[in-house]
Amino acid sequence: MPELPEVENVKNGLLDLLPGKVIKEVQVLWPNIIKDPAANIFSRQLAGQTIENIGRRGKFLLFYLSDYVLISHLRMEGKFRVETTDTPLARHTHVVFKLNGEEELRYLDVRKFGKMSLTSRVRPFEHPSLVSLGPEPTADKLNDKWVSQFLQNRKRAIKACLLDQTLVAGIGNIYADEILFDARIHPSRPAYSLKQEDISRLTKSIITIMDKAVKSGGTTIRTYANAYGDSGTYQHNLKVYGRDQAACTRCGTRIEKIKVAQRGTHFCPLCQPAE
Ligand SMILES: [Zn+2]
Repeated sequence: MPELPEVENVKNGLLDLLPGKVIKEVQVLWPNIIKDPAANIFSRQLAGQTIENIGRRGKFLLFYLSDYVLISHLRMEGKFRVETTDTPLARHTHVVFKLNGEEELRYLDVRKFGKMSLTSRVRPFEHPSLVSLGPEPTADKLNDKWVSQFLQNRKRAIKACLLDQTLVAGIGNIYADEILFDARIHPSRPAYSLKQEDISRLTKSIITIMDKAVKSGGTTIRTYANAYGDSGTYQHNLKVYGRDQAACTRCGTRIEKIKVAQRGTHFCPLCQPAE
């Protein structure tokens, strides 16, 4: 699943191609992709809208249009491509936005898990998909105090909290493992057991790992690629994710893989003690 850095890369790719384009017509080939409003209303409201800007909040892409904001979550395998109208439709194309200049923005999704919503341009962040998202993982938005308040009294594993989009927006399975390794915190530790110094390290690791991953264009595994088909390079920096049984880069101990919060979880048993 693309996480914040990969979605940011997709956003940057689309930003080079789309602002200023007018949506002439929308064809929804798989209506379940459209969460709200109904697919026919979605198509009707989009006709004639100009794409003014493209943004991101957590793992959501935001297309700022003349009167609306189109909110898109790629979930497992969603992708956008910009093609000329004479390019044959690829398999798994579910939504086609016909643009001026004989171009089309096409949404492809092998698993069909992705979702799109259309909301008002006035207060887009009040849409149910966005309203409860936690802060972005940046130094100006995230601080120890917020993380500390969130974790106190929570019995869930710290990894489950990192995956909870109401603590911080944009972290998924790969970066949760990398952040906890960087902060030297065992992934199944109960959230409330973290001491103030653990929380300070954790907050710092969230900010630095996500920043590095954004600057690398994200991590390329399996099918993720940005709008151009380029891809990120952060996979070369992964310290624990996908490194089951390999030597820890810090201490040489073998990386272990366990299940935490129903997700495959990688950690170093020496660098990340259970307490
Ligand atoms: Zn280690």
